[in-house]
Amino acid sequence: MADPRQHVPGTDRVLAHPEVAAAAERLGRGLVKKAVHAAQQRARTGEIDASHVVAETLAGLPDSAASSRPVLNATGVLLHTNLGRAPLSRAAIDAMERAAGTTDVELDLDTGRRGPRGAAALAALCAAVPLAEAAHVVNNGAAALSLAATALAQGREIVLARGEMVEIGDGFRIPELLTATGARLHEVGTTNRVRLDDYRSAVGPDTGFVLKVHPSNFVITGFTSAVPVDALRGLGAPVVVDIGSGLLNPHPVLPQEPDATSTLADGADLVLASGDKLLGGPQAGLLLGRAEIVQQLRRHPLARAMRVDKLTLAALEATLRGPLTPTEQSLRRDQPSLLRRAESLATGFSAAGIPASAQCSEATVGGGGAPGVTLPSAAVVLPERFAELLRRGTPPVLACIARDRCLLDLAAVPPEHDDELRRAVLAAA
Ligand SMILES: *Cc1c(COP(=O)(O)O)cnc(C)c1O
Repeated sequence: MADPRQHVPGTDRVLAHPEVAAAAERLGRGLVKKAVHAAQQRARTGEIDASHVVAETLAGLPDSAASSRPVLNATGVLLHTNLGRAPLSRAAIDAMERAAGTTDVELDLDTGRRGPRGAAALAALCAAVPLAEAAHVVNNGAAALSLAATALAQGREIVLARGEMVEIGDGFRIPELLTATGARLHEVGTTNRVRLDDYRSAVGPDTGFVLKVHPSNFVITGFTSAVPVDALRGLGAPVVVDIGSGLLNPHPVLPQEPDATSTLADGADLVLASGDKLLGGPQAGLLLGRAEIVQQLRRHPLARAMRVDKLTLAALEATLRGPLTPTEQSLRRDQPSLLRRAESLATGFSAAGIPASAQCSEATVGGGGAPGVTLPSAAVVLPERFAELLRRGTPPVLACIARDRCLLDLAAVPPEHDDELRRAVLAAA
């Protein structure tokens, strides 16, 4: 038998094939070459025929030059940190695409002069929260906290209740972030209780600000007391409130979740929040409040190191001005319609011989929002082994395992993705 290696086409020849060349235009030469080399290797070992190297190369190409893949979120956790938190609205995605090239992010096209960066996004933020005299945006909630701590309390004290010394996740602890900026923490109260007098005796000439942090991922019940924002005004120090989830106004489904408007109305001088939690936008840290404080933060040298990208500004503006976000739509889904979708999917699976049923379930907000709140939802129930098969499938589906069964919770799945979900399950079977 002839040595199969003699017939394996050379790299340049494969790369010159029109379809492979087109792929190189789209994905870059490096990625395509990798696929060519893998195909050649398989031909050399005799695994495939040498005449199939081009086809094998094309089959081995990735969909995109970036390796991150869309994943269907069937976990029942609306804002899943491992899945990138809030999915963006179509309007926000379009805005990012338009901003991706050269764009007027910092140019006034009328005068031809340099314009204020991201002015439209900031205006949209102030329009959504009229009580905010000014707004600023940085890279994420943690950056907003560090900017506030650095600009307002470096070398001074931040007064914070012990019950609000939160660890957000992945070992990220708010008290450690605050002290890393060179501010000192002045802890008040105990884990479960703090009173206005505790704050009053802590505030003094050395106080940079009083900080309230929303315990966004846990609840303390029982013998507890906290001091509301409106009681903290008038202590003689600015009141900064980290509300976490980025609700701009009270939400009917989440009445306990703090929002920027109410917090400012209660007398907060500065409110901090994330952009990619309940606001449903891109990763960002929002700072809203008194003009002179926001101005001080914006002028701080560190602000430049936390400056947001043009894509973020575009997505944020479109999130604020555009249609309901996918997150908001998830919050508004009603259980009967979720259950009907689950039943329809389950019926199709049963017809294909897959043991499936539909049941009511409970979804959560997740991602540092509305701790302890459950949202009435519905799920398709499959045998447990489906969880891994679906995670490794195309598109990958992340399910939830409960009591040895695989649950596909539909709260975070837009109805227009049901078909994709159906095909993923049929393929997994
Ligand atoms: C999520 C959260 C943060 C951190 O925000 P990131 O945008 O993740 O950096 C800070 N504080 C609170 C209360 C949060 O819930």
